Amino acid sequence: MEEMDSFQCLVCGFIYDPKRGDPRRGIEPLTAFEDLPDDYTCPVCGVSILTQNSAFVRIETSGQTCGTDRASRNGA
Ligand SMILES: [Zn+2]
Repeated sequence: MEEMDSFQCLVCGFIYDPKRGDPRRGIEPLTAFEDLPDDYTCPVCGVSILTQNSAFVRIETSGQTCGTDRASRNGA
């Protein structure tokens, strides 16, 4: 399967999830961020994705490692 990354709006914190799309605005689920129409804007703050270089950032979802604290149990 093709991996699609989520993108977060730096202005308001909205996260575009390609798996969900934006059906209310005619964006079908499984629409990659790159495939959004040029006139698509952030549904929350209205910033244009044409300025995605500054307003939207890719969220790395693959290989997310949890911060496991290495509490090594020393035998007392
Ligand atoms: Zn926004």
